[in-house]
Parts: sequence; C-alpha cells; structure tokens
Amino acid sequence: MAETPLAKIIRQRIEQLGPMDMGEYMALCLGHPRYGYYMTRDPFGASGDFTTAPEISQMFGEMIGLWIADVWMKMGSPSEFILLECGPGRGTLMGDIMRSTRTLPGLHEAARLYLMEMSPVLQKAQKARLGTYDPIWIDGLEALPSAVPLIVVGNEFLDALPVRQVIRNGASWRERVVTIDQDGMFCFGEKEADLFLIEAARKTGGREDVEGVVEVSFILNQFLKNLFLLLKKQSGIALFMDYGHECSGVGETLQAVQSHRFTSVLDFPGDSDLTAHVDFENVGRIAREGGLVCHGPVTQSRFLRELGIEVRAERLMKGANDVQKRDIESSLKRVIDTEQMGSLFKVIALSYDPKMTLEPAGF
Ligand code: SAH
Repeated sequence: MAETPLAKIIRQRIEQLGPMDMGEYMALCLGHPRYGYYMTRDPFGASGDFTTAPEISQMFGEMIGLWIADVWMKMGSPSEFILLECGPGRGTLMGDIMRSTRTLPGLHEAARLYLMEMSPVLQKAQKARLGTYDPIWIDGLEALPSAVPLIVVGNEFLDALPVRQVIRNGASWRERVVTIDQDGMFCFGEKEADLFLIEAARKTGGREDVEGVVEVSFILNQFLKNLFLLLKKQSGIALFMDYGHECSGVGETLQAVQSHRFTSVLDFPGDSDLTAHVDFENVGRIAREGGLVCHGPVTQSRFLRELGIEVRAERLMKGANDVQKRDIESSLKRVIDTEQMGSLFKVIALSYDPKMTLEPAGF
C-alpha cells in the first residue's frame, strides 16, 4: 500500500519524538496545513467520502432556520446579533437558513454572519454560496465582537475535534498512542497516562469498575468553555447536532471513513475522515458548570418532528412531480428514521439570558 504524504511526515515525527497520542494524530490527519483531510478537499456527497443532513435535504436547514427565527424573537429581536456557524462545510446549511428566514422582518438586517472554518477549500465553497450575506471568516472565538448577543449553530462540527484515548483496566490508566512496528507499519501502542488526562477521563469515564477505552477531547472541552464564557457575557444560545451518546462512559468511537466505508484509523492518514462520537453528557456538564441552561439532548428525529419537518415535507410534495416526491420522502426518512440518522444523531442547545427564561423550540 502506497504511503500517503502525511504518513511520511507522521513517521518522521514518531522517529524523532517518540509515539504520538491519538489527539495529535487526529489533529494532523484532519488539519495539517498542507495534507490534512479537510484542508485539501470537499469530502461531501455521493462521489466524496460521506454526506451530512444539510446535504441530504433542504428541509434540515429550513427547520434550523425556523428554530433561529424563533429564538431570535424570544431573545427580544435584538437589532444586532452574531450568527455564527462552526464548521459550515459547503455552506449548504447556512444557505438554507438564510433562505428560510428571509421573510421575517428585521432578522437579516440584524444578523452579522460569522463562519468558523479551517479549510481553505471549503471556505471557497462557502464564499460561492454565502457571499451575498457578507460573511466574515474567523479562526477562533476570540475574533468575535464583544457586547453583541450570539446565536451559534454547528452540525457535525464537534465530532471533528481531536480526542485522546485512555485505556482503563482496574486501577491502571494507560494512554493509547500511534507508533511503528518491526515491519515499519503504524500500529497502536500504550504509554503511561499523565495525571491531567486521568483526571479528565475520570469525569467522563462513567463507572470506575468498567474496563475499556475512555475518550477525552481537551480541544472540545476548551472550545466549549470559551464559547460558554462568551454566551454568559454577551447572552444567547448555541445549537449542536452530532452523532454521539447521551451518557458519559467507556466506549471507543474514533473511526475513519473513506468513500462511504469504514477503514482503519491508521491506514490512510490525511485521506480518510476521522471522527469521534460526541459525549453529550459532557457537553451539558461543561455548560452547567459555566452557568448556562442546557436543553436536551434529544434525538434528531424528535427535534425535527417537533419543529414540523413532516408538515414541511407535505407542503413540498404538493408542488412536486413523481421523481421529486420520491426524493422528498426518502430524504425525510434519512434524516428522521430511527434506523438511519434519526436516533444516533442528537441535538443539544445551551443558552444564557439574564432572566434565564429562554425556551428554545424542539426540546
Ligand atoms: N456542517 C457541515 C460540515 C460538517 S464536516 C455539514 O453538516 O455538512 C466538519 C466541518 O468542520 C468542515 O467544514 C471542516 O472543515 C470543519 N472543521 C473541522 N475542524 C475544525 C476546526 N478545528 N476549526 C474550524 N473548522 C473545522
């Protein structure tokens, strides 16, 4: 098997510096400036590696648009607010959000659109799709203006943030690493886990007597802490949709996908998508520790149904031909059916408003 260019770089680093933790490995695989997975391609759609709810159906973004319109009004229709999307992909979700909120007086005038996106290729796609709304691209939350309320959305963003893996076995905690075997191939190894990591893993590892792999994402935890500080200071709400579990606990979820198939995490560094399931209990815990109110998590199916996706599908069907009807029906199924995305995907919202009375729809 030919080695990817990124594999060569990772191999050199391991030879020079020793085994690499999974977090560093994942961060390089996705975000290496030259060879990182997202930095070099548009991975979505049938010809790509995977697809996402906004790419499957315009109704997904329309429901999120409705949700945003509702919370904006419940926030008192502020005359200026930050509308931030984290990891906007092709810009499809935000395109559908903007289209479906066009007719609500005042919302577009009040929204300052910010996109947090690390990939130059995807930034270009977002510019083509969303250029008319004058978005501002940012690298991190510190670039956002202060003293303005926020509405934040992220679909399949949190799952792309690098995780480290700790193996708990009785009283022993070891960290999983990537190293090189006798034949010169990448393989998994273990090293002693540092105290910082063990402490974090204790919080999310569930029952101490259960053996297995505990995943910890310092990057996700820090991102959420920073976001929640902003929300607390400037008020507003964040909505995240992703696949993951409602409760913390052991479980190895780091996975690699290429051309719609699972592959080994170590086989194609930089050429396959790496993700890890989101621990929604952890997200809620960090929000509460930061003084925010947590709504959900609920399943994507329930959230979209509460917002009226089935009624929307019926409306669209009325003006559609037979081919379009079949397409509407099958894409609706894909996003809400429990065997498809409906129950593996969860939705959570985290809010702060001075009166603590904001009740977003869908929960
Ligand atoms: N939300 C889109 C795309 C999901 S894929 C959709 O649902 O279709 C993940 C997205 O997050 C991509 O746009 C990727 O480039 C971006 N991304 C991943 N890690 C990031 C990081 N650390 N900072 C900014 N963007 C990131």
